[in-house]
Amino acid sequence: MRRYGHWIAGVEVEPASGRWLTSSLPASEEAVHEIALGDTTDVDRAAEAAAGAVDGWWNRLPVERGRVLTAIAARLRVEASALAELESAETGKPTWQSPLEVEGAAAYFEFYAGLVNLPGGEVVNLGPGFHAYTRREPLGVVGVITPWNAPLNQAARSIAPALAAGNAVVAKPSEFTSATTLELARIATECGLPDGVLNVVTGTGDTVGGAIVRHPKVRKVAFTGSARAGREIGRVAADRIIPLTLELGGKSPNIVFADADLAAAARAAVEAFLPNAGQSCMAGTRLLVDATIHDEFVKALGAVLTQVVPGETYGPQITRAQYDKVNEYFKIAEQDGATLVSGGRPTGTGWIIEPTIYTDVTADMRIAREEIFGPVLAVLRFTDEDEAVAIANDSDYGLVAAVWTADVTRAHRVASRLEAGQVYVNAYPPGMMVEGPFGGYKNSGYGREKGIEALHHYTQTKFVAVRLQEDQRIW
Ligand code: NAD
Repeated sequence: MRRYGHWIAGVEVEPASGRWLTSSLPASEEAVHEIALGDTTDVDRAAEAAAGAVDGWWNRLPVERGRVLTAIAARLRVEASALAELESAETGKPTWQSPLEVEGAAAYFEFYAGLVNLPGGEVVNLGPGFHAYTRREPLGVVGVITPWNAPLNQAARSIAPALAAGNAVVAKPSEFTSATTLELARIATECGLPDGVLNVVTGTGDTVGGAIVRHPKVRKVAFTGSARAGREIGRVAADRIIPLTLELGGKSPNIVFADADLAAAARAAVEAFLPNAGQSCMAGTRLLVDATIHDEFVKALGAVLTQVVPGETYGPQITRAQYDKVNEYFKIAEQDGATLVSGGRPTGTGWIIEPTIYTDVTADMRIAREEIFGPVLAVLRFTDEDEAVAIANDSDYGLVAAVWTADVTRAHRVASRLEAGQVYVNAYPPGMMVEGPFGGYKNSGYGREKGIEALHHYTQTKFVAVRLQEDQRIW
C-alpha cells in the first residue's frame, strides 16, 4: 500500500514518530493508503524549512513567482484525472464532482499568478517635506489548516494567495483526506517552487494543527473548519498576537419571494443543499418561503428531487461519526415537531443518506439553528420582507445567503440587510468561483478568502517616510 510521508523542504520525509495513519474509502472503510502521523518534531522541521526559504521567495521578482504559480495551475490540469481519482477515493465524492474541484484548485493558482504585482503599496501625500509610501510585505510563514469536504480545492484557496504574496507555507490537511494536498506540494516542487516554500505535515488536529498554530515561526494561520476548532485556534492566536483567517461553518438562508421564477428557485434550492451530500459550509440549508406560495413550492422541490440519485448525484457522508450525526438529527427534528416531507433516513447503501426535507420548521428548532452537514433542508415560512430578513438573520452563522425575487429594488434592499459574507440574487452557485471574496459574518468566521481581497490577508502594511527637506508640519 502506498505510504505518503510529509512533504518538507522539497522532499517526502518519514514521520519522526515512525507511525502512520490509514486512509480509507468512506462507507466501505476499505484502506486506500497510509499517511504519516505527524508530531511536533515534524512541524518544527517544516516551520524551520519555511522560515529558511521565505526571504528567497519574497525577494524574487513578482513575475517569477507568478510564473511558478502558472506552472502549478497547468500541471494540476495535466494530472487532473489522477488527482480527481485520489480525491474521490478519500472522500467518496462522485466521479463527476472531483474533476470540478481539481479544476477549481488550478483556477486559484491561475488567478493569483495574475495578481503577484498587486500587493505593492501606495504613495502617501505628506506634503513637500517627505516622500512617503506603503509597502505590502508578506507575513512570513503562514499555517494553512484545512478540512475534509473539498480537500485540494480548499488547500489551493489559501496556499495560492499566500504564495503569491511572497509567504512560505506549512499546510495541514484533514487527517481523513491528506493525499491530494501532498500531491499538490510535490507538483509545486516539480514546477520550480523553491524547497521549503510549501511544506505539508499530516496528522491530527490537536497534535499537528495545534503545533502549527503555536509554532513561534508561524506568523499567520488560515483556518478552514469547524467553529469548535476555530475557537481553540483563536485562543492560541490571541495569546501569540498573530492574525487569523477563520472560515467556519454556516446555516445559510435561501429566501424565495412569491414573485420569483419559482421553477428556477426550486431547482437551485435543491442544488443548494445537496452538493457533497450537504457537507458544504455554504450549503443553503434554511429555505425561507413566502407563505402564499409555500405549498406549491414544496411540491416543486419534490419534483426536482425525482431527478436526484443518491450515490450518483452525491456521495456518502465522509465518516461513520458524520453519518451517525446526521441520523441523530432526524430524531431531533421529529421531537421538535417538524414535518418530514421526504427522506429522513439512510438509503441502505453505505453511508449515503436520502435527500431530506422538513417543513413546518420554526427558527428556534435545532434543525434550523445547527449545522448538520448532511443532505437535510429545513423549510420555514414568512409573511413579509421584514419577517424574512428577521428569520434569515436569526442565526449564529452568516456565511452565505440568497434572495429570489423579480423586484430589483427589493433584491438590493434585502441583500443590504442580510448578515452574510456573500449574498446571491436569483442564484445559488455551488461555490467553485475564485473571484468573489468569501468569508463569514458572526460565527462563520472572519477574514476573507478568494478574490483580490484575500491577498491583503496574506500581507502586512509597512509605512515608510523619507525626509526630503525641512518639514513645516506641526506634528
Ligand atoms: P474540523 O474543525 O474538525 O477540522 C478542520 C481541520 O482542523 C482539520 O485539518 C483538523 O485536523 C484541524 N483541527 C481540528 N482541531 C484542531 C485544533 N484544535 N487545532 C488545530 N487544528 C485543528 O472540521 P471538519 O470536521 O474537518 O470540517 C467541517 C467543518 O468545516 C464544518 O463546520 C464546515 O462548515 C467547515 N468548513 C468551512 C468552510 C468555509 O470556507 N467557511 C469550508 C469547508 C468547511
